[in-house]
Amino acid sequence: MKILVLNCGSSSLKYQLIDMEDESVLAKGLCERIGIPGSRLTHRPAGKDTYEVEVEMKDHRVAVELVMKALLDPVHGVIHSEDEVGAIGHRVLHGGKDITQSCVVDANVKWVIRECFDLGPLHNPANLIGIEACEAAMPGKVNVAVFDTSFGMGMKPEAYRYAIPDEYYEKYGVRRYGFHGTSHDFVSHEALKYLDLDPEKGKVIVCHLGNGASISASVGGVCVDTSMGLTPLEGLIMGTRSGDVDPAVVQYITNKEGITVDDTLNILNKKSGMAALSGVSSDFRDIEKAYKEGNEHAILAMHAYIHRLVKYIGAYNTILKGTDAIVFTAGVGENGPMVRRMVCEYLEFLGVKIDEEKNLATFGKQAVLSTPDSTIKVAVIPTNEELAIARDTLRFVQQ
Ligand code: ADP
Repeated sequence: MKILVLNCGSSSLKYQLIDMEDESVLAKGLCERIGIPGSRLTHRPAGKDTYEVEVEMKDHRVAVELVMKALLDPVHGVIHSEDEVGAIGHRVLHGGKDITQSCVVDANVKWVIRECFDLGPLHNPANLIGIEACEAAMPGKVNVAVFDTSFGMGMKPEAYRYAIPDEYYEKYGVRRYGFHGTSHDFVSHEALKYLDLDPEKGKVIVCHLGNGASISASVGGVCVDTSMGLTPLEGLIMGTRSGDVDPAVVQYITNKEGITVDDTLNILNKKSGMAALSGVSSDFRDIEKAYKEGNEHAILAMHAYIHRLVKYIGAYNTILKGTDAIVFTAGVGENGPMVRRMVCEYLEFLGVKIDEEKNLATFGKQAVLSTPDSTIKVAVIPTNEELAIARDTLRFVQQ
């Protein structure tokens, strides 16, 4: 069976068509500038030339129709009939406190996604538009919503509750949700298999280090704790997000600058993190270069990044009462030997040892970095959120 995976943003739509027989990607692509002049479709069929076209897409429904047209095209296409698409899996950011797992989209699920617009204002509206566009363009197909918050629903109250008055949890669902859930879920389960850990009891810490960054602790693939909170702002230092700050910082900056709370939140989300500390860029390649050239801001940024990360690893190691494996994933985790080395050097006191040659040779591929005598296994496992969504979607159509 073939599964279409969609990830809709406010003006974009990323897609992959995956053949679940062998989990190969038949085609992937991107619609950009939906609803904006200059919309463009880039379609990459496996084994064929990339096809790019500038074509008006007034909304996501038109975009979905164009994607299907590209998939069915006699030259650039990879399928002969729409019937070959068994189901559609949608990435959805926020499922609120009632959705704990992926589900087939129905009126109730759409209501929940809509109810969570306030919690995911940039993503949830676009995710719903994508679902409704597919319902309109391909009536009768099963649509499955896979939520970025599902993995975090494994946390117990002591991990997810904030120590604030109960009424805010009851009335507004103010709690820690965690994000990058599809990635943490996928990578922690892959780690259990790849590193031959006990599928029920294996204790894994996953460091998802991309532009957005988060860390999770899980037992047998069930989330025990994860660093993002009510929104993806909490936790690690990220490309442009501050991660943890004293909440009073918000009030202080807002008052001092005479700006609004929304303005300050915008600063913490978009103008902070590694970009702010380094003064160089939010991109790790630029920061690493500046670090090596002795740029003192880049050095501070890198040290602060590592400090925050190892602080969380230490905390999670305690929460888990010991760790079987630490896994690096996403852009920096998969391609950044320097960050991996700096983290593992910190952990030497715990008996963590890695083979630096292997570390230096590992870019975007699965690898065990730890030496056989390391107390904790250390590995790189590339994340694959699209495949995770497709696997989850398949479960529903096979039932
Ligand atoms: P997101 O999906 O959150 O946008 P990614 O997972 O694609 O982010 O990660 C992007 C980050 O990965 C960027 O900071 C980029 O610099 C970093 N990255 C990519 N390649 C390398 C590399 N070779 N060395 C260090 N960092 C890298």
